[in-house]
Amino acid sequence: MPATPAPEVTHRPDERFDEFLLAAAATHPGHPAVVEYADGAERVTTFRGLRETAERYAAQLDRFGLEIGDRVMIVSDTSAEAVALVLACASRGLPFVPVSPETPAERRATIERLAEPALCLTADGRPEGAVGHGRFGGGTIEVPQPPVRRGGSRRVVTPTDTAYIIFTSGTTGRPKGVVMSHRAVVAFYRGMIAEGFVSVGDRVASTSPLQFDFSLLDIGMALGSGAAVAPVPRALLRWPTRFLKVLRVTRATHVNGVPSIWRQSLRHIPDQLADLPDLRGVLFCGEEFPLAELRHLQRLRPGIRLINCYGATESMAASFAEVPDPLPDDVTHLSIGNGHEGTDILLLDAEGASVREEGVVGEMYLRSPALMTGYWGDADATDAVLVIDPLEPRSGQRLLRTGDLAFRGADGALRFCGRRDSQVQIRGNRVEPAEVQRRLLAHSDVCEAAVVVAEGPGREAELCAFVVLADGADGTAESDLRAFCLRAMPAYMAPGVVRIVDSLPVNQHGKTDHRRLLAQLLADA
Ligand code: ADP
Repeated sequence: MPATPAPEVTHRPDERFDEFLLAAAATHPGHPAVVEYADGAERVTTFRGLRETAERYAAQLDRFGLEIGDRVMIVSDTSAEAVALVLACASRGLPFVPVSPETPAERRATIERLAEPALCLTADGRPEGAVGHGRFGGGTIEVPQPPVRRGGSRRVVTPTDTAYIIFTSGTTGRPKGVVMSHRAVVAFYRGMIAEGFVSVGDRVASTSPLQFDFSLLDIGMALGSGAAVAPVPRALLRWPTRFLKVLRVTRATHVNGVPSIWRQSLRHIPDQLADLPDLRGVLFCGEEFPLAELRHLQRLRPGIRLINCYGATESMAASFAEVPDPLPDDVTHLSIGNGHEGTDILLLDAEGASVREEGVVGEMYLRSPALMTGYWGDADATDAVLVIDPLEPRSGQRLLRTGDLAFRGADGALRFCGRRDSQVQIRGNRVEPAEVQRRLLAHSDVCEAAVVVAEGPGREAELCAFVVLADGADGTAESDLRAFCLRAMPAYMAPGVVRIVDSLPVNQHGKTDHRRLLAQLLADA
């Protein structure tokens, strides 16, 4: 009997990030996949066009002889070209590391140092550095000096290979790289798409930078449903009339983003928001939508579908809960529902036992096939959050310990109610105050620093830093310290308020008393 030939395909064709997202290129090749806003008009890239560009990029990546697992850093906003490039990288097993063009050079350099990419490609601007730096666009990759060939001993990309690494704020003072496999992202996409928010022909406006996994959620939701993703140019997002114009021109049916993207339009041009012709759904994520603003949006757009998406980069997201329309007056916490299909959100107490009673606060743990592989180069941090299932330790299965607190309502659904640690969300962006504190301490004139978050009803969360200067450093002003932060971190991470003080108050354990600092701030406000 002839020997059975070894199977060439070791995974189902749609278990890879790129294959999953380009499946509609076979079924709906002429449908829009990306709708961009360019000079006041829409520019459409079809699924066929997107696949062709991705294939062109992939063929060019092949020239460099990279090894499966070699990282490609992509400095870009979301665009048809950038989507094609991430698909190309994924098809070759090259994890992509998205970085926003607005990222300060120092932070970009830090991410580059940590990720050690084989290739760094920018959408515009001159390629920096010599070896392995280049530019992409128009289906072409220009690399003045190609990366050093590594040999390429592996040939087959498997679903457990890394699809991407996203760097987020870390307590140790350096960004933390969340490593996601193809299998995990596709498992997440499947669970999300099963919720049935969008379908063929819809257009999903994406407002998050490519650097945040929320943009990959948008891309997955759109392309995975045979719909189009419509990136809103970052520079226009701040201007409510321009933002709404982009939505009108690109005929967005759904808009995804952090809650704060709606604030200016609700405040200044509610009539224009009410008049948007195609808008049917809004998905928000990253933090709780201020309830007064949410009710205002519902009044302006009766019947609009509002989805509260809860989750973290470590699993892209975990649940999608529909906001009741209208939101009853007695609601104080929005429901985050329960896990999306395939994901179980467990509510556990400090001993690791299930919390079942209504209204009792516990910590959320995720049991899911959509979890990160780990933090890049940080086994200790990984072990701290990917923990053996406390309910069935014998299984050896790891759950994601989210650090997020919640309680159950009478309907059995969860309500988010804060963090176990000091991580905060500033305008929907995740920040570890400890990272900001470390940056301040890196200033040669600073000898002590503490960072607190001031928030309250009607006040947007804001980082406030208290700083004690070293002897003889009186020349340093508060604005210098803020500028020092801005050089190394995105604007949302730099403290809005910096106060130079003679000393920091301490509590009875001798630790900086954050509560007193906060009280001091609120008293002065
Ligand atoms: P993202 O997946 O949006 O990139 P991040 O990793 O930046 O999320 O931040 C995750 C954290 O944001 C969560 O651990 C939680 O504390 C908070 N968060 C996310 N979504 C929500 C939500 N819908 N409501 C309240 N808080 C949220």
